[in-house]
Amino acid sequence: MLNYKKIISRLLDQNIYILSNDDKEAIIIDPGLGFDLIDAYLKSENLSPIAVLATHAHIDHIASANDCIKNYNIPFYICRGNSIMLDHYDIMKGYMHVDSEKPEVSHWIEDSDKKLIIGSFEFNVHYNPGHSPGCMSFEIDSLIFCGDLIFKGSIGRTDLQTSNPAHMEKSLEMFVNSFDVNSTLLPGHREITTLDYELKTNPFLVKYAK
Ligand SMILES: [Zn+2]
Repeated sequence: MLNYKKIISRLLDQNIYILSNDDKEAIIIDPGLGFDLIDAYLKSENLSPIAVLATHAHIDHIASANDCIKNYNIPFYICRGNSIMLDHYDIMKGYMHVDSEKPEVSHWIEDSDKKLIIGSFEFNVHYNPGHSPGCMSFEIDSLIFCGDLIFKGSIGRTDLQTSNPAHMEKSLEMFVNSFDVNSTLLPGHREITTLDYELKTNPFLVKYAK
């Protein structure tokens, strides 16, 4: 049985998720600003973090990745398409006025990978660029961590420097046709929702409803 906890970070109200299993192992997904919030939750639940996983490398999603990696001595997984943004980490950091060290990647996920196994956690991975070049969604037990692809009632921005609106269109179409509509969407900002609800109400997605 999997559990998840949403923690709202201190930068751009980004959603940090802690995914855990019955063995009290936890994966920290998108550790945005607020290492203390993550650490307090892990301690209160007696969880052992085993990895950091990120949907993409915008700094609001990884501002405390380095703190997690260093304090818990755990690996960091992210799609290779993010290397260009990680190369410019200090620019993002200065732009957002955030004091945060660049995290070192230990496991690059390839665009073409379909599975990701971390301990006893088995994810289906879906490459969905557009908002940024390395965006990926991670699916496990009908939970989909979709980063800044889809939000409740909206979608991720495509006017940023490394965005690509054409890629976003393709990714959205692929995404909505890849999952059971009852799947839970755990986005990078705003509320948790379901694919079914978004297909019925999200102005950017209703065109894909069947
Ligand atoms: Zn983003």
